[in-house]
Amino acid sequence: MNVQDRVLTEQNSLFDGMDFSGVEYMLERCTLRNLEAGEKLLQPELANSFLYLILEGELSVHLIGSATLEHVSMFSGECVGEISLVDGKNPSALVVASKPTRVLAVPHDTVWSMVDQSHEVARNLLAIIAGRMRNDNSALITAHTKRKQYEHQATVDALTGVHNRRWMNEAFPRVLHRCALDHADCAVIVIDIDHFKRVNDSYGHLVGDVALKTLAGIMTAHLRPHDLLVRYGGEEFAILLPDTGIEESMVIAERLRAVVAISEISSGDLRFRITISIGIAAATQEGNLEDYFAEADRALYRAKEAGRNRVELAT
Ligand code: GH3
Ligand code: MG
Ligand code: MG
Repeated sequence: MNVQDRVLTEQNSLFDGMDFSGVEYMLERCTLRNLEAGEKLLQPELANSFLYLILEGELSVHLIGSATLEHVSMFSGECVGEISLVDGKNPSALVVASKPTRVLAVPHDTVWSMVDQSHEVARNLLAIIAGRMRNDNSALITAHTKRKQYEHQATVDALTGVHNRRWMNEAFPRVLHRCALDHADCAVIVIDIDHFKRVNDSYGHLVGDVALKTLAGIMTAHLRPHDLLVRYGGEEFAILLPDTGIEESMVIAERLRAVVAISEISSGDLRFRITISIGIAAATQEGNLEDYFAEADRALYRAKEAGRNRVELAT
């Protein structure tokens, strides 16, 4: 080993805070490896019998089978392959040189001899493994947070911020089932904006979007925290009212209708109002979500027929 490589080896975290000359002679059986950019050093499918100390360059560590965990870069002074050193199994990750890289390959039995010989090497190895676990944990937390964000995006309507149909198909049956177990009444409400085409035709689609957003905000503000509001179609919303009898749900629906009718929608200099028609179905113990929707839809149709800006109850 030349002088420069000796200095680079001594600076590796495996030899932190210790007298390197005490273990240096044990490195005789180590070999230097020059990796080209893109060359694989460790692969999960291939057994590994070396701990690699990075002297120069950069390695990229890819956790296999995880699209959400990002790769990690490793530089001079760090090492790779310590997990398979300790557990004797194949590498836990794919390690590739991201640029021309030089590593010192230390055979496993040499590492164990150094551990036997030196408390400092043993302590440093533990510190390296602890650092790896800490990094893995934070990578897991990051991945978990990202997954939660994706899940949120997949179930929330981007325009209005209320839940979407996909979420409804999962959440409504669950809540209906719980209500059935508790022998509690529930109601399914469907809502459609009256003559919404005219809003788009008169003011444009973007103003129509503002109306949808405003409507969702008004309804959210006038519902209880446990009521489930979704935008399940273009200008169609649905609400599941858990633990709510039919009379109470009529009161809630009528309150929504009335507050929407008097609320002003503003977009730039424009000020206008919209009205909504509402159909309600009581969710009894026997039915399923499709049945309730069909009933509520028929009631909604009657509300439209009867002149709109009305609440109708399924017969
Ligand atoms: P009705 O009183 O019978 O419901 O009349 P309507 O004009 O509202 O008729 P309908 O419910 O069939 O029309 C829905 C309209 O809603 C058609 C479509 O242009 C508009 N729309 C659907 N989704 C969106 C959207 O995301 N943004 C905007 N701006 N308009 C939408
Ligand atoms: Mg419609
Ligand atoms: Mg409509």
